[in-house]
Amino acid sequence: MSDPVARLDGRLAPLLEERRQAGLYRRAEPLAGYDGAAAVTPDGRRVTVLCGNDYLGLAADPRPAAVLADKARRLGSGAGAAHLVTGHRTEHEALEAELAALTGREAALLFSTGYMANLGVVTALAGRGDTVAEDRLNHASLIDAVRLAGARPRRYRHADPAHLARRLGGAATLAVTDGVFSMDGDVAPLPQLAAATEEAGATLVVDDAHGLGVLGPEGGGSVPATGCDPRRVPVLIGTLGKAFGSFGAFVAGSGTLIDALRQLARTYIYTTAPGPAQTAAALEAVRIARAEPWRRERLQALVARFRAGARQLGLPVPERSGPSTPIQPVVVGSAAAALAWSKTLAARGLRVAAIRPPTVPAGTARLRVSLTACHAEADVDRLLDALAAAADHHPVEPSP
Ligand SMILES: *Cc1c(COP(=O)(O)O)cnc(C)c1O
Repeated sequence: MSDPVARLDGRLAPLLEERRQAGLYRRAEPLAGYDGAAAVTPDGRRVTVLCGNDYLGLAADPRPAAVLADKARRLGSGAGAAHLVTGHRTEHEALEAELAALTGREAALLFSTGYMANLGVVTALAGRGDTVAEDRLNHASLIDAVRLAGARPRRYRHADPAHLARRLGGAATLAVTDGVFSMDGDVAPLPQLAAATEEAGATLVVDDAHGLGVLGPEGGGSVPATGCDPRRVPVLIGTLGKAFGSFGAFVAGSGTLIDALRQLARTYIYTTAPGPAQTAAALEAVRIARAEPWRRERLQALVARFRAGARQLGLPVPERSGPSTPIQPVVVGSAAAALAWSKTLAARGLRVAAIRPPTVPAGTARLRVSLTACHAEADVDRLLDALAAAADHHPVEPSP
């Protein structure tokens, strides 16, 4: 075992085997082409995609694609440097202005991905000696951000303002929460969380990756959808890779916040700026999302159809209060059960990935169903039929 590659592989092989044994082994299945509702497999089969984040169906819309192609021909395919060197372009400025307008803020700052936006923001605003309260079901990138900042994490019970108030205990710097929880699809009670945060003299940070574009007038997100005053959420994070069907992310807030992040956020400073063609395409997608409310209305109608059907069939779809979202988990229990359900659906041409620990707590493995404005009623009905068949063959194992 003196060969260095063999030595490393020898260390990794048991980890892989452990994951396989636990039903947690994952692979990335390649698809060839996608139209907003369905994809084609490399061997030519059509599968309906019911677990993506392209809620408004903009990822395959020809208009942003046309902007991307046109801009790429004229400007090239990359930014060539970080923003603070020579990578910053008029396309980035235009998108930042549009995102500030969408979210009702003074300014916005682009990041390459939402993961990087979260790391950049939390590490800029908190450090060793600070305490950060976080919802225990926050997205992995927020959890990682608090860890990387070296701040003391204080987890509070999911969407529980009273527990947040106790965890803040007068000493915290930040409270961070998803706006729409990525694996559960429920909306955070933002006015109540804001009140608890203000009481403790801390700052509320909301990652609205799944709310922007989908909820609120013009897709302004969970802040307007919960009736929360934008000033009570001084730091708002969004991604362009979900409802806007594009790539990239941003932070929106006061001019001072954005100026500070430009100086302090290491994931903004030490990385190549997004390509200007990609950024121009994202701007086109944001404009379309704002201007075409029928996409949000259509999505809500499909979600209502799914929920009514699921309730009638007795499927394990959690009850929900608050605004409805396109993320509709079907919680089946063990990782093995989630895989079995997913396979039953796959046999019927429906793709819904099994979400297993550590992405969700043990015993709550699930099919994370999500819909887009491009699905047909018939797609929802086929999904319900397939879920009913899966429930017959693989009973739900109650959570511990
Ligand atoms: C997807 C997601 C992110 C990461 O965004 P990317 O742009 O895909 O890196 C961050 N936060 C939440 C809540 C998400 O769901």
